[in-house]
Amino acid sequence: MAYGMGNQPVIVLKEGTERSKDKEAQYNNIAAARAVADAVRSTLGPKGMDKMLVDSMGDVIITNDGVTILKEIDVQHPAAKMVVEVAKTQDTECGDGTTSAVVLAGELLKRSEDLIEQNIHPTVITNGFKLAAAKAKEILNDIAIDVENNDEILIKVSNTAMTGKSVGGQKEKLSAIAVAAVRAVADENGVDVDNIKVEKKVGGTIAETELVTGIVIDKQRVHPRMPKKVKDAKIALLSTAMEIKKTEVDAQINISDPNAMSAFLQEEENTLKGMVDKVKESGANVVFCQKGVDDLVQHYMAKQGIFCIRRMKQSDMEKMARATGSKIVGNLQEMSADDLGFAEVVEERTVGDEEMTFVTGCKNPKAVSIIIRGGTEHVLDEVERSMHDAIRVISISIEDGKVVAGGGAPEIELNLRLSDYASSVGGREQLAIEAFADAMESIPWTLGKNAGLDGIDVIIALKHAHEQKGGTVFGIDLNTGKAADMVKLNVLEPLRVKTQAISSAAEVANMILRIDDVIASRRAPPTDPMSDPSMGGMMGGMPGGMM
Ligand code: ADP
Ligand code: MG
Repeated sequence: MAYGMGNQPVIVLKEGTERSKDKEAQYNNIAAARAVADAVRSTLGPKGMDKMLVDSMGDVIITNDGVTILKEIDVQHPAAKMVVEVAKTQDTECGDGTTSAVVLAGELLKRSEDLIEQNIHPTVITNGFKLAAAKAKEILNDIAIDVENNDEILIKVSNTAMTGKSVGGQKEKLSAIAVAAVRAVADENGVDVDNIKVEKKVGGTIAETELVTGIVIDKQRVHPRMPKKVKDAKIALLSTAMEIKKTEVDAQINISDPNAMSAFLQEEENTLKGMVDKVKESGANVVFCQKGVDDLVQHYMAKQGIFCIRRMKQSDMEKMARATGSKIVGNLQEMSADDLGFAEVVEERTVGDEEMTFVTGCKNPKAVSIIIRGGTEHVLDEVERSMHDAIRVISISIEDGKVVAGGGAPEIELNLRLSDYASSVGGREQLAIEAFADAMESIPWTLGKNAGLDGIDVIIALKHAHEQKGGTVFGIDLNTGKAADMVKLNVLEPLRVKTQAISSAAEVANMILRIDDVIASRRAPPTDPMSDPSMGGMMGGMPGGMM
């Protein structure tokens, strides 16, 4: 609070505003951010534990996926929210490495706290962190392994991303499918994962999950007399209904003359028939309609040998447009042959005990679908999540052409090389770079700890291995507790998962460290007027409040 002339306090902030400054603000923010890291730490690695999350409706989620956990728990504190954002960024950029990113951010902040206590200014710390993050990227690039055209490597990357997930037993099979799917859609511009359509069908086993070159739609034709299979399909995509529009208001049409009645019905029928004529005229023999299709229209289309699906999902319409080269038409009257797409075959096939529609031999050969099979919805969802992660890690490995060993190997290498780098920089920044280097140890330490090993022993073993020739790829073998060649153990991760985790962890740590003043207006007033007014303020909910 500032004081004006005559020692009268000058009031600039609204009454009830809460404020914390300098070290107090920094410590508060760091504590909140670290609490987020603490919430996910125990899930890291293949031996990590699961969390059971119960929402306010009583629904239960069991997961060990960092970003899923953080999305579900209701984090209040602004600094904690910033860390949750890191996990989300990591997820959108890489599809993996969310827990690692958050653990690293927590660790960087913990080390910063020690530095602040030693009176090192936050600006010095953030400068040091920036230098270290840039150097870390260089080091990772240097130790990365080239993918080239080796699908074996990609399968290993996918398997590593799936370890610890409940799909465990089938990961080889799922990885092979994911690699084939990504290879099918990859080109010189990278991988557009939107070209891969994932469908789920209850029944069968995970092992029956299959890859289809083309698009699979979880729907069957509208009329049993329509052909089950159309070769040389000319495909129309309609975003409007093939029905007579019902009037918005409840209009009543009074017809007294029976002739007028039949004329009216006749006219309706003509309109509907006209729609089918229009389709026929365009040359289409397959119609995917996003809205409803009148019974009469179905009947006429069946007579004309046209295959039709109604109530297509918007996303399926878009996928179909890309795959077959057709345009989505909003007005049937304006549709022409130019709007149609092409596929060699459109057919209905039985999957499990339900019908699905397969569109194969598409104009765009990049369109592929994966049909996930499994006993229950719950299993399907879990496989789908793993499949999405696998597709992402494979894609970014292909795009960058580089992977790194896992199991804490890159983090130990970073620790060693960044420590050398620190002494070459010197000055006060050196301390921050050293802290950054030390923070890297938190990954192998936590991996070991979660597997019931002693963290210190793990670090010592790994450092020893890394000092030997060819030791760069040595990480922790969680079954033996010994340092081991992670390439031989098939533990590989995309380079980008590591670079992204480190850069976003450093970024959020720096953002939090630069804040020296937190001014928060009071949230909703307490409902009970007798309650302590100091409760329920900004700090009231942290850090325990987030759990
Ligand atoms: P994240 O959300 O960060 O991906 P995970 O729980 O998936 O968290 O754990 C990833 C970490 O586990 C990485 O450091 C990875 O190298 C390591 N890891 C995965 N599989 C193994 C394994 N078989 N042995 C040792 N470490 C492994
Ligand atoms: Mg992972």
